[in-house]
Amino acid sequence: MREARAMNQQDTIISLTETYSAHNYHPLPVVLTKGEGVWVWDVEGRRYLDCLSAYSALNQGHRHPAIIDALTAQAGRITLTSRAFHNDRMGKFLQLLCKTAGMEMALPMNTGAEAVETAIKAARKWGYTRKGVPQDQAEIIVCNENFHGRTTTAVSLSSDPDTRRDFGPFTPGFKWVPFGDAAALAEAMTENTVALILEPIQGEAGINVPPDGYLRECRRICDRHNALFVVDEIQTGLGRTGALFCHQHEDGADPDMMILGKALGGGVYPVSAVVSSREILGVFQPGDHGSTFGGNPLACEVARASLRVILDEGLAERSRYLGARLYERLRSLNSPRIKEVRGRGLMIGVEIDKAHGPARPICEALMRRGVLCKETHEQVIRLAPPLVIQESEIDWLGDQMAAIL
Ligand SMILES: *Cc1c(COP(=O)(O)O)cnc(C)c1O
Repeated sequence: MREARAMNQQDTIISLTETYSAHNYHPLPVVLTKGEGVWVWDVEGRRYLDCLSAYSALNQGHRHPAIIDALTAQAGRITLTSRAFHNDRMGKFLQLLCKTAGMEMALPMNTGAEAVETAIKAARKWGYTRKGVPQDQAEIIVCNENFHGRTTTAVSLSSDPDTRRDFGPFTPGFKWVPFGDAAALAEAMTENTVALILEPIQGEAGINVPPDGYLRECRRICDRHNALFVVDEIQTGLGRTGALFCHQHEDGADPDMMILGKALGGGVYPVSAVVSSREILGVFQPGDHGSTFGGNPLACEVARASLRVILDEGLAERSRYLGARLYERLRSLNSPRIKEVRGRGLMIGVEIDKAHGPARPICEALMRRGVLCKETHEQVIRLAPPLVIQESEIDWLGDQMAAIL
């Protein structure tokens, strides 16, 4: 009886949601109502280990006390001023952000896609005003199978037909090269190229890790052609891959501009930013660009606390060694259903052999064992728990994967 009623409550909520919400997602049939650290609970009180972390927006875990404290304290003072006035929180946040990123200047926005748009505008304006590219001739190189968000320009960067279908016409000025192929990149450069934009590991494409030395080569090729090297670290940044920023796994791969989002808001509030040099972000003049909510004091306090947690709790280091532990465990399963395990730190993709069907039923089976994760690109299960996860919880996750695979 209890079980039947539980099904009912969950199904009622799902059907209400499906009635009034556009169907632009295909969620697993679980309704969450509470979260703490690495754990979430559904409406019937069942507990799950969150192995998606809202696509790495929850690196600090659910409701980290320091982040919630910052949120509530700031909510008691002032939440929004607009950029028509100064607020007393933005400078402190951007100072910490720039120091952490090793950059000089930042421009705060809200969502990741908006920060991508900001980076594109900055690169184009830099191209016209500094590099001397003729008006409207700027080219930006991007990689096949990239993911940079869902706005019209971000889908214009996509090479995926499903992402683009029925959404054209697209923003012009982009060129595609295969991810991981430095020779193709060198070939694609022209005197009108203003930037290369890439993810240091492609997340949504199924955790694609480029060959060693690729990022350093990209840096060199951009230098040779006076083009900006821009990394989208919205998903890979802030400790996820076992370094503070993923490009730091390689020496000599420092970008000109870095795009951040997701975990910058600590899983609490949308905060994104572009960080770069004075020379590059200095191209913006009053009236060029903006956002009503970008840089609001609530966002700045939440983001400053979110950064502090990552730094103070050594989350990048945790991600490195706990990721290695999980990776070894998964490799040692030697399961015929696993085609490949790949990734860095706690950003791990488990590719399921097509002969054994798609990844979705495995995600559903994991859900029934108390593990929440989501397939990406049909065959890949992404394992990306919050970085505050304990060693014993990693081992428990390994046990659940072993039981199913
Ligand atoms: C999630 C993501 C984005 C888009 O961020 P939103 O906040 O969803 O707009 C852009 N780039 C990468 C690499 C991402 O993972």
